[in-house]
Amino acid sequence: KLMTDTVKSVLITAGASGIGRVIAEAFLAQGHQVHVCDISAEAIAELRAEQPLITSTLGDVSLRDQVDQLFVEFKGLYGQLDILVNNVGIAGPTAALEDIDPDDWDHTINVDLNSLFYVSRQAAPLLKTSKGCMINMASNAALFGFPLRSAYAAAKWATIGLTKTWAMELGPFGVRVNALCPGSVSGPRIERVIAKDAEQRGVSEEAIRDVYQRQNSLRVFVEAEEIAQTILFLCSSAGRNISGQAIPIDGHTEGLSNWLE
Ligand code: NAD
Repeated sequence: KLMTDTVKSVLITAGASGIGRVIAEAFLAQGHQVHVCDISAEAIAELRAEQPLITSTLGDVSLRDQVDQLFVEFKGLYGQLDILVNNVGIAGPTAALEDIDPDDWDHTINVDLNSLFYVSRQAAPLLKTSKGCMINMASNAALFGFPLRSAYAAAKWATIGLTKTWAMELGPFGVRVNALCPGSVSGPRIERVIAKDAEQRGVSEEAIRDVYQRQNSLRVFVEAEEIAQTILFLCSSAGRNISGQAIPIDGHTEGLSNWLE
């Protein structure tokens, strides 16, 4: 029987907009109970206006006390957790090693890496009880060196390290842990990244967009919906023996540094 046949409680970090929202709506469309946490009150208000069945907590998952509060609220609402999607992630600084502001570095590591620990340590006992699933959002930047994006690359490589480690720790309890490695996803975020990159390198946004697309064999940007559908698959019984994997959804990235050539 597919896990998606029974109603599951799903928690998605940074779920009020972007890829997280698409994931939230995909679970909702399958009839699941969906709770999102997001730092943006505006994004939560927009989501709730359109999807009143999705519950939410306003909070910053890089802050431990706010994560604790998230779990108080989540447990009060649902009691159990079947699926955790650690989706939060910011692009961080685009700068050469010696030009990175250490405060930007710390902030990026807090949001992209430490949040993963804060949220997952609270989720682990609940996932053991439900024999649930954890999905961690990495990136194709977790598979290659990524010039000018040190903090992001560091956090995303660490995400795969944690995914494999926690798959081993939680696997004997029936909990599966996987990471996804999307390539550039169509949408406003990639447009912001392209704009910053173009500014940093002093070239046009079109040139950067072209380079990003030429970095993968299929010459594409991916759609958030493809990520959501992969998560549904991984959390279904069809994925019941898939754990500890870092799964690219990226048109086959060939490298992230060919802009240098
Ligand atoms: P996004 O920039 O669109 O942000 C999504 C949401 O995150 C926003 O609603 C924002 O308010 C929330 N958020 C930011 N900081 C937060 C915090 N500290 N606590 C709680 N919420 C916070 O992001 P996205 O493009 O949807 O990316 C989602 C995930 O996918 C990230 O982990 C990202 O690294 C990864 N990813 C994205 C791409 C891409 O091209 N967009 C590619 C590969 C991987």
